[in-house]
Amino acid sequence: MTTDPASPASSAAFDVRPLPAFRDNYIWLLSRDGCAAVVDPGDAAPVEAALAEAGLCLVAILVTHHHADHQGGVERLVAAHGATVFGPAAESITGLSRPLRGGERIEVDGLGAAFDVLSVPGHTRGHLAYLAGRRLFCGDTLFGAGCGRLFEGTPAQMAASLGVLAGLPDDTEVYCAHEYTEMNLRFAAAVEPHNPAVRQRIADAAAIRARGEPTLPSTIGLEKATNPFLRCAEPAVIAAARQRDPSAAGAVGVFAAIRGWRNEF
Ligand code: ZN
Ligand code: FE
Repeated sequence: MTTDPASPASSAAFDVRPLPAFRDNYIWLLSRDGCAAVVDPGDAAPVEAALAEAGLCLVAILVTHHHADHQGGVERLVAAHGATVFGPAAESITGLSRPLRGGERIEVDGLGAAFDVLSVPGHTRGHLAYLAGRRLFCGDTLFGAGCGRLFEGTPAQMAASLGVLAGLPDDTEVYCAHEYTEMNLRFAAAVEPHNPAVRQRIADAAAIRARGEPTLPSTIGLEKATNPFLRCAEPAVIAAARQRDPSAAGAVGVFAAIRGWRNEF
């Protein structure tokens, strides 16, 4: 990953808002001075509505991975707007014009922003995350208090990918692609019943959802305090994992045991 200390401040200047899609997806709409980009447009309709309402011109589409709820709207949006499509080279992405592998820094000119591209395999084998300053767009890798299912990758890959994200500054904002926070917190409380930060977040998330608002963005600091998948080195999480699977050993073994437990929760 390229690091340029000058760019985080300048790349934070765009606005971000969620466009709810399907049951619980968020398509993130990034905009600045009449230009827009979207992250993971699984459906074109909410994007078209938001562009029309705000009078925005779509210049770029950032795709984190190939699942239909993340790229299903790409074809229609490209046909209508001719936007540049960034996405994983290792996956089948409709209309992909800028194939990426991770480690690149991309410029989205209309937004005046640069994004570092992070390779975060696990949910899928080519999954990418996009980091602009202190804003992380992480698709289905990291969720509020949870992480994506391992459809294509190994526990070791996902644990390493989550480790990369956990290494970002605590005040990094985390823009996940699904509203799964409350369900994930119920699981987090089962893993760590005595973690006060989990208890507090359950109350906070309930209040936020009662107002009809997204629990996102989260922050890396909040995830490190409440997300069991970022807490696999904590004695309480290790103990819970071993209760589930007595053979769970090492960081990856603990992660795999917790992930397997979550699948059946
Ligand atoms: Zn997915
Ligand atoms: Fe998804």
